[in-house]
Amino acid sequence: MISVSLLSSYDYCPRKLFLEQVLKLIVIPRESVVKGSIRHEVQDRISKAEESIVKSIKSEQSYKELLEKYKKLHSDLLNQSIIKNKSKLGEIKVSLAEFFKESWPTVLEESKDRALNVHKFIQSNKVFGDELWRSLSPKIETEYYVASEELQLKGVIDRLEVYDNKFVREVVPYELKTGSVPREGVWPGHKVQVGAYVMLLEKNKMFVREAFVKYLDISEARPVMMNPFLEKKVLEARDAVLKLFQGKEIPCICENSKKCSSCSLKEQCWNEKFIKERLSLLS
Ligand code: SF4
Repeated sequence: MISVSLLSSYDYCPRKLFLEQVLKLIVIPRESVVKGSIRHEVQDRISKAEESIVKSIKSEQSYKELLEKYKKLHSDLLNQSIIKNKSKLGEIKVSLAEFFKESWPTVLEESKDRALNVHKFIQSNKVFGDELWRSLSPKIETEYYVASEELQLKGVIDRLEVYDNKFVREVVPYELKTGSVPREGVWPGHKVQVGAYVMLLEKNKMFVREAFVKYLDISEARPVMMNPFLEKKVLEARDAVLKLFQGKEIPCICENSKKCSSCSLKEQCWNEKFIKERLSLLS
């Protein structure tokens, strides 16, 4: 089985994926990768803390009060992640205060989303504490593992909203992305990745209401519409990655000057002698 995230990497540059996965060249993490991984960690901490904060709500509260509660907790969690990752931030020469300032708007959006979700639910259901947690819908899960032998795919979904429904598990997956944002819609590689998650969830007998890519830097969730063309693209990308892993053919240079100029593997990629030597070690 191959990981869904590789489909997106293949779409970005097949040659880079080959260099990383087949020739095993080591990629020096770029600033956006380091920042992205810390933001993912913060999101995960926020989700794991949700149960305790919801259970701690014992009476009706205004949206403002709930928001303050969430803001306080989420700001502490962001600080904890920043302190834990201070050496990584040091390596990319970003100060702890600078990273907090940069990340806080996104975390604040999360606080608002969650406070509003709970507030609305309390208003219509008038339940609190443990009962509130038991009945809250949607619940937000993170790092949700899903796989299918039939599709030969596996993956970890960043965020999954799960709606309470007696007959079927209704879900809304989100892929969280940092870095550049397309003027409209989502990048093609992100579309394939989310399409693959939808297919995996459906194979696991879930009903997917909608699916999104959330661009964290602008706090915007953009929809991905599933259709037969996207399904076909996912399967084609999967087959292309499986073929690439056979290591028989090295993909051409992608000829996208923007991608290549910021690529951490460009020195090796453009060095034909080096590439030939590494390829000869494969046979
Ligand atoms: S330099 Fe360009 S072609 Fe080579 S791996 Fe990087 S992005 Fe791909």
